[in-house]
Amino acid sequence: MIKFLDLQKINLQYQEEIEAKLLETFRSGWYLLGNQVKSFEQNLSQYIGSPNAIGVANGLDALRLTFKAWLELGQLKVGDEVIVPANTYIASLLAITDNQLKPVFAEPAIGNYNLDISKIEALITPKTKAIMVVHLYGQACWSEELEALAKKYDLKIIEDNAQAIGAEWNGIKTGNLGDAAGFSFYPGKNLGALGDGGAVICKDALLAKTIRTLANYGSIEKYINKYQGLNSRLDEMQAAVLDVKLKYIDADNKKRRMIAEKYISSITNSKITLPNLPEDPEAHVWHLFVIRTAQRAKLQQYLQQHEVQTLIHYPVPPHKQKAYKYYNHLNFPITEKIHDEILSLPISPVMEREEVERVISVLNKF
Ligand SMILES: *Cc1c(COP(=O)(O)O)cnc(C)c1O
Repeated sequence: MIKFLDLQKINLQYQEEIEAKLLETFRSGWYLLGNQVKSFEQNLSQYIGSPNAIGVANGLDALRLTFKAWLELGQLKVGDEVIVPANTYIASLLAITDNQLKPVFAEPAIGNYNLDISKIEALITPKTKAIMVVHLYGQACWSEELEALAKKYDLKIIEDNAQAIGAEWNGIKTGNLGDAAGFSFYPGKNLGALGDGGAVICKDALLAKTIRTLANYGSIEKYINKYQGLNSRLDEMQAAVLDVKLKYIDADNKKRRMIAEKYISSITNSKITLPNLPEDPEAHVWHLFVIRTAQRAKLQQYLQQHEVQTLIHYPVPPHKQKAYKYYNHLNFPITEKIHDEILSLPISPVMEREEVERVISVLNKF
């Protein structure tokens, strides 16, 4: 079976270094808010090119804490509207609604599955205060038009960068394009921990300080609480692993890009719609390689029979989830079509050439 993602193989690439760091951390006797997190935050902020990185417990919290900090700072207020792509993972939505902000769904572009920036302006009302862009599947979602809109209407831009660490737009890394960005280090992400982890990247030092405080029970000084905070800290063991793996993220992403290019040049089956290669190859880090077909169930079963494991990202859009009953009546035809037809093929930095070739030949015979 060609696995969708072989996490064991991915992490064993760096076995010696990771084990040494874990042992060092274990023996140090210091497990939270210590030197491993400090070092990882410094290296991450340098890699992204932003002055502030704050390690947190997961990607959802990174987004959630950013909105919470803007509320605490009086830069947003309860009930403000946030434009968000309808075509995203539910975490993007949860970060908004958990803060009593109102999501306003925007349709994606069918060509790249990312937010259709040309449709944003029509959604802006006097209550709109922010736009959340999601660099879905690893592809940067950004344009000068978006920057101009944010400026014209004085909107904050938050990036959900959970899937796109290392991607660039015009030489700027995703996560350093907007006002703030949430990163996820869920094990399956391009930079994955051995458990949960996340980070916020932002330019504003006051925002960074507020997020750091909120993530630590709202406290700067021990037992003195400035806000009703959360407990959302990146722990030392995870930071130690991430600090090792961060050194290899560009090499890992490059391997993903080579596989994506090979798929695109070699899959020729007319029943399958392939993703587009972006003009700038650096704009995509191929967290997922997502194809579309009108015969998805049949194709997925056929691939399974031929020992190719696939997944669907995602089968049900957030506005059709039970969790959001009050949005279930909304219809977003492009989003829904995407959800009905997509299928994610195996892609990872440890996939062998023969495995890639087998996926291609099996697909072309469907
Ligand atoms: C993974 C993911 C998240 C959430 O990250 P967690 O670390 O799992 O909380 C948020 N948004 C998107 C688009 C994701 O893929």
